Amino acid sequence: MIRIFTLDEFDPALLKALTKSLYTAFGVGSEHSGAVTAPHGQQEPYDANKLLETLPKVHALKDDKVLFLTSRKLAPRKLASGEAPTFGLSRYSAQLAVVTAVHIKNVADNVKLLTRYAMHEVAHTYGLHHCLDPRCSMYPQWTPSYANGDCIFCTYCRDSVDAKIRTTKS
Ligand SMILES: [Zn+2]
Ligand SMILES: [Zn+2]
Repeated sequence: MIRIFTLDEFDPALLKALTKSLYTAFGVGSEHSGAVTAPHGQQEPYDANKLLETLPKVHALKDDKVLFLTSRKLAPRKLASGEAPTFGLSRYSAQLAVVTAVHIKNVADNVKLLTRYAMHEVAHTYGLHHCLDPRCSMYPQWTPSYANGDCIFCTYCRDSVDAKIRTTKS
């Protein structure tokens, strides 16, 4: 089960479309499991790492994935060459991920891109790394072409995700 917990208000229709697309993408159930509030002292732009460390414990089973969804900015990553926007963050081969919709202009009309970001972070929690195929959701999100892509994995990432899900299902 991929459980979405919202940190901000989102249109229920949008959440429904997102969970449906995640179900299609991963073949595991997905639902909006509730709302949480950002821990005291966390201010926009959120430090994504700190956020994942300090968010309240939510009810989830061991094999569940927990995706926090916010409409606020996550602090950009500092690179040697400057700064890169942060679209989300996840714990590799673990449970928690966070995704922001702040970079999507009209999110109600572009659930596809939000899904692509969500697929990317959830796939990281299944242990997947970045991919060189520009069509794939695991392509680096800071590339200009990323936003035009579909909610798909390339064959390689698809197989990796399927294998991971098969081995975690008890
Ligand atoms: Zn990534
Ligand atoms: Zn791929």
